[in-house]
Amino acid sequence: MCVFCKIINNELNSYTLFEDKIIKVFMDINPSSNGHILIVPKKHYENINDIELETMNHINVIIKKMYKILNNKLNFDGITLVQNNGLGQDIKHYHIHIIPKYHNNELKDVKEIFDILKSE
Ligand code: 5GP
Ligand code: ZN
Repeated sequence: MCVFCKIINNELNSYTLFEDKIIKVFMDINPSSNGHILIVPKKHYENINDIELETMNHINVIIKKMYKILNNKLNFDGITLVQNNGLGQDIKHYHIHIIPKYHNNELKDVKEIFDILKSE
């Protein structure tokens, strides 16, 4: 079973921000910036060629939801979406990276950022 399937099945721990029947959103373990998160469908699709449009549409809704949360909690200067397929894709389970961008990119501990994002 792949690493992300294990995270989805709770066989591996993750800092999970949000989940529903279709997707799970958790902190990237090796973030490029503060608030780097991954949106991962619960069903194992390898890449953009495999995933159903319906699931992609749902992921778009979640991207907008996560944008709002990141915008409210972290003072980012921009947001970049990344979705690797094949070469450059380490985990062969479809996922989208949401990577906030900052003029001052001082990396903090993932847990610290997770707590900020989860706070009311
Ligand atoms: P890819 O290169 O496949 O687009 O990106 C895979 C991402 O998954 C990387 O940014 C990497 O840091 C992250 N990652 C790899 N293993 C784990 C893990 O076990 N837990 C979490 N939370 N992220 C992981
Ligand atoms: Zn998988």
